Amino acid sequence: MFNIILFGPPGSGKGTQSEKLIAKYNLKHLSTGDLLRSEIAAATPLGIEAKKMMDQGQLVPDEVVVGMISSALDANPQVAGFLFDGFPRTTAQAEALDKLLKLKGTSIGIVLALEVGEEEIVSRLLNRGLTSGRSDDTNETIIRNRITEYKNKTSIVANYYTATDKVKHIKGEGSLDEIFSALCKEIEAKMPQK
Ligand code: AMP
Repeated sequence: MFNIILFGPPGSGKGTQSEKLIAKYNLKHLSTGDLLRSEIAAATPLGIEAKKMMDQGQLVPDEVVVGMISSALDANPQVAGFLFDGFPRTTAQAEALDKLLKLKGTSIGIVLALEVGEEEIVSRLLNRGLTSGRSDDTNETIIRNRITEYKNKTSIVANYYTATDKVKHIKGEGSLDEIFSALCKEIEAKMPQK
């Protein structure tokens, strides 16, 4: 199994690049944001609670997302690898993920960190809000809260993996194809050859 974390602030292109990466490398895409939005759509108790935090641009509690990821790992035993998108977002989540993967006899192969400037992120998200149907993309205050959560709690998660030489920084501005090629180059340098 080769497992990838696609890391970066909201609006850095994680979702778009994830779609291309899972198709190319035959990975299972696990986006905690998407999993939470499915819970909201199904009006589950978890979804109803999570929505309150998401609508403010705050992170939902670690145990909620770790529980969802744990179930998703169990539900997909036969995959070539996982692509984690929007997870882990705190050091506690990173530690929990390591433990879950270890139980399955696997680990993280690479952390790809997309880098995009703050004003570019705000303009991308406001633009995405015109069509995404996501309430957290339409209000600039909520967008800035999401960026603050990223700076305070998530950006340090990269340090957690730095010690193992797993983090590769990629410029997330430019054409989709240029960014995709840069990501693939880093993956192929680390991925075991078949
Ligand atoms: P995203 O789709 O990744 O931008 O996530 C949208 C929102 O879902 C975030 O602003 C958080 O409120 C919540 N969320 C998604 N993933 C996580 C996570 N790993 N930890 C905590 N909250 C999360």
